[in-house]
Amino acid sequence: METDPAHYVEGVLGRSKRLLAKTITLIESALPAHQDLARQVIDALLPHTGKAIRLGISGVPGAGKSTFIESFGRMLLDEGRSVAVLAVDPSSRRSGGSVLADKTRMPQLAAAENAFIRPSPSGGTLGGVARKTRESMIVCEAAGFGVIIVETVGVGQSETTVASMVDFFLLLMIAGAGDEIQGLKKGVIEVADVIAVNKADGDNRDRAEMTRRQYETALHYLVPQDRTWTPRALVCSSLDAQDAGIRRIWENIQEHRRRFEQSGRLDLKRRRQALDWMWSLVEEGLMDRFYKHPEIAAKLPHIKASVENGTLAPTAAAESLLFSLDIS
Ligand code: GDP
Repeated sequence: METDPAHYVEGVLGRSKRLLAKTITLIESALPAHQDLARQVIDALLPHTGKAIRLGISGVPGAGKSTFIESFGRMLLDEGRSVAVLAVDPSSRRSGGSVLADKTRMPQLAAAENAFIRPSPSGGTLGGVARKTRESMIVCEAAGFGVIIVETVGVGQSETTVASMVDFFLLLMIAGAGDEIQGLKKGVIEVADVIAVNKADGDNRDRAEMTRRQYETALHYLVPQDRTWTPRALVCSSLDAQDAGIRRIWENIQEHRRRFEQSGRLDLKRRRQALDWMWSLVEEGLMDRFYKHPEIAAKLPHIKASVENGTLAPTAAAESLLFSLDIS
């Protein structure tokens, strides 16, 4: 194991996919020495970032995320761009690769010279997985990838977490039995910059268009997060990399980028995200210190039992635990 940060930094800046993968492995490692090294590498890489388009993609399992990313990615490669795909999937416990961003799910992209695919780090909390993905994103950007895609499954909190680390958030939907609007979690639609109804092909074309209109109406009732951009509803078919709908989505992403750059909002958004990033690291660090603290670990079982059986008030219990955590 190479312990010199410069080895990784130079490898990544020289766009070696092998060293890119090794650096991400370092980021994902739980060993304190690796984490320390990873921090030094990221510090050195940060000045080389900021130019990429950071794109979040979410949708329920089966919505067509991997099919979409494969076609969308191929379109980008045909344009001479490069693309990195990372995944956030805290539910994934499979070792050696998660369900998301598996090489077999995007075979053509995985084999392409200008593409890099990394599955979600397996296991861990959403916060932990998000931290690793954020840092991996920095590494991919420093390696010169022009578009960074962060994919997540459309369940739980992961969409809002991913939205807080990207420039543009795309929500992939499919036409359903008509109750999709009602069933949609409000928080998710609120973070979408574009909602794309996928599988708008064959017999499904009209249904997809109808669903698109429903989303368009739903979007009208939302106050945009940012006056620079009003979220839109589109349709696409991911089976074909030449699909006009996929191209429209890309045009929207580019238009969004232009507007955010020209108005200075991109810079502002990223600065806010940097603060979010810091706070999530602080929270993660505090929790980690809390659970690893010997005094807390020793008294926690007893305190938990006392609160549970009603002999100790939750307020007093929390105070007693926090008192042990001397973080000054
Ligand atoms: P994911 O779970 O969101 O990654 O979804 P997949 O990309 O694995 O797609 C789920 C299924 O839908 C697969 O059988 C795909 O072939 C199919 N699929 C994905 N996109 C489209 C599309 O645009 N049109 C049609 N007809 N099928 C699609």
